[in-house]
Amino acid sequence: MNYQNITVAGSGVLGSQIAYQTAFKGFQVTVYDINDEALQHAQDRIAKLKPLYQQDLGVTQEEVDAAYARLTFKSDLAQAVANADLVIEAIPEVVAIKTDFYTQLGKVAPAKTIFATNSSTLLPSQFAAATGRPAQFLALHFANTIWKNNTAEIMKHAGTDMKVFEEVVEFARAIGMVPLPLYKEQPGYILNSLLVPFLDAAELLLIKEVADPETIDKTWMIGTGAPLGPFAILDIVGINTAHNIVEAKAAATGDENMKKLATLLKTEYIDKGKLGRATGEGFYTYPNPNFEKTDFLKG
Ligand code: NAD
Repeated sequence: MNYQNITVAGSGVLGSQIAYQTAFKGFQVTVYDINDEALQHAQDRIAKLKPLYQQDLGVTQEEVDAAYARLTFKSDLAQAVANADLVIEAIPEVVAIKTDFYTQLGKVAPAKTIFATNSSTLLPSQFAAATGRPAQFLALHFANTIWKNNTAEIMKHAGTDMKVFEEVVEFARAIGMVPLPLYKEQPGYILNSLLVPFLDAAELLLIKEVADPETIDKTWMIGTGAPLGPFAILDIVGINTAHNIVEAKAAATGDENMKKLATLLKTEYIDKGKLGRATGEGFYTYPNPNFEKTDFLKG
């Protein structure tokens, strides 16, 4: 892997973090967004990351300033990718917007450039044709607060060149991530393929009135030694997101339990402002939730 120049397209929540982390690890980074106003927001957003890096990683002012100095901001796509070895796309999760972006990008990027999407829910095969270079396209998926939650799920589609895949795995490691290679397309990557069914199973035990959330969490924690049970995790994910997932499943399958669950989450939690950890209450109250108390696992 001899990537040097990286372009990050889209400079919102994740794009700004990806750009700054990549620059922090010594790469030259061009940030591309639709207009100068968006780029101004990006500069503000990235500047706010500097104290967080100092606080969380214990790095110096010089280091965070040097990282910032490796960033260039451009709103002209052809200029932004003129010398890019890799373009990481973090634009809105909307199929039409991404398709249009890849169609434009495929026309203006040099032949050498590799494209990677940070999409959380869409698959690379949905855009492979639009890129005009399917063999040089794959998914590279980061988690929010990338400098602390440093996973990078790297996912092929059927047509991705294996050499490109391996280069991107190496690149992910070079920017301080733990690379997690997926050799086949999988909606939800690895984490959500495990987590979503696990949380569904816990919620179904609740809606079928088999057991209450604390008992379910205790069972999981004592039985496996895990630090958190599913309802404590749901409080971190947020009840809004949990509700959206359950509601979509209820609509797609017509499953009565999922419908009941969607109603419960809406009426008993969302409507009462219990959105999870972020609002101080969800299945538990914060700070000092019951599952953190010393006697929680004892009886
Ligand atoms: P966001 O809304 O915060 O940012 C999107 C950015 O894209 C904005 O700066 C916007 O101006 C820009 N944009 C819009 N249209 C564009 C275009 N045609 N070309 C270039 N830039 C354009 O979004 P986000 O939360 O950063 O999500 C971006 C991508 O990252 C999505 O695919 C999402 O699934 C993925 N992702 C998000 C998270 C998260 O926690 N937010 C985590 C992992 C992956």
